[in-house]
Amino acid sequence: MKNMSVYNFAAGPAMLPASVINQIKSDLPSFNDSGMSVMEISHRSDLFEKIINEAKTNLLELLNLSDDYEVLFLQGGATTQFAAIPMNIAKTKHIGLVDTGHWSIRAQEEAKRAGIKVDTIASSKTDQYHNIPNVKQPQQDLDYIHLTTNNTIEGTAYNKLPNLTTPLVLDVSSNFLAQSYQFKNVDVIYGGAQKNIGIAGLTIVAVRKDLITENDLPGMWNFQILSKKNSMLNTPPVFAIYTANLVLKWLKNLGGVAEIEKRNRQKSGLLYDFLDNSKLFNNPVKKDSRSLTNIVFSTGNDELDNKFIEQAKENNLVNLKGHRLVGGMRASLYNAMPYEGAEALVDFLEKFERDNWRTK
Ligand SMILES: *Cc1c(COP(=O)(O)O)cnc(C)c1O
Repeated sequence: MKNMSVYNFAAGPAMLPASVINQIKSDLPSFNDSGMSVMEISHRSDLFEKIINEAKTNLLELLNLSDDYEVLFLQGGATTQFAAIPMNIAKTKHIGLVDTGHWSIRAQEEAKRAGIKVDTIASSKTDQYHNIPNVKQPQQDLDYIHLTTNNTIEGTAYNKLPNLTTPLVLDVSSNFLAQSYQFKNVDVIYGGAQKNIGIAGLTIVAVRKDLITENDLPGMWNFQILSKKNSMLNTPPVFAIYTANLVLKWLKNLGGVAEIEKRNRQKSGLLYDFLDNSKLFNNPVKKDSRSLTNIVFSTGNDELDNKFIEQAKENNLVNLKGHRLVGGMRASLYNAMPYEGAEALVDFLEKFERDNWRTK
């Protein structure tokens, strides 16, 4: 039996809102009285057409984007887009990149593989990625600058986007609709759905329509063809798009991004306040660079960290192990994590500290 009171702090795939799980459960045997589950319906049916178009509208509305942007529902993860985006929109094959750690470097590698010249225009590498670098207007002509808004592994985030004349392309995978940004001079906003908007198998790309031009890329990478086919050049991930739409509706009903940001600040604030005052646990990130969605911390002692992760699990606080590249712990507090989850975590951290701080 699944323990229903588990709080799941996984970085992705991650928890879904309880009401969305319940909706899926009740829709499952027969979607909209069709006698078929949503996993069984045709992507060419009116039933699905309605879902995908609703999801598009809901996404644009939540991001506060006009219909100058096309929304594509794709597969292959953000990882595919590291190459597909420059192949489609980097007209001179020369882009800039803000180096904020693991995922930004993956984006750089993939763009290079696609034959793109990539200049690192800012980096926090020398600070072990414990902060986010200030981005100044580069002198050279670049098609765009790739920036990762939230660094899932390092626990850092931009709380404001740099104001540049060169357009931005944003990997928002781990804070998609978790906080508001002014999307000014932004060419593309993209990310996998499995962290904040649903389940694995769906990648969402919002791209400025005037950048979608004729090119000779193969169909599955070709934004113009994909856009003309309303993201249905081949069979789309129907269930993942349906789930994303439920999450988008849930977020709209709750008050949208401004409201969820407020809640995300309360949840993460509770945890950061504890860490700032802790005798045992430490968060290495510079204060103005802190992520709202991925909070990294450790005791500085691997054995004690492992003991914490084990005991937390016994207390129904699961998936707190940090990414293998940085070790320690990571609590992902995405939109679906209720305040009570953050509270339960902090209560347990306090107890663990009382029992263990002398042994450090
Ligand atoms: C998880 C993650 C990715 C990789 O996403 P996939 O959908 O698994 O390809 C890319 N960028 C960021 C910021 C991430 O958190």
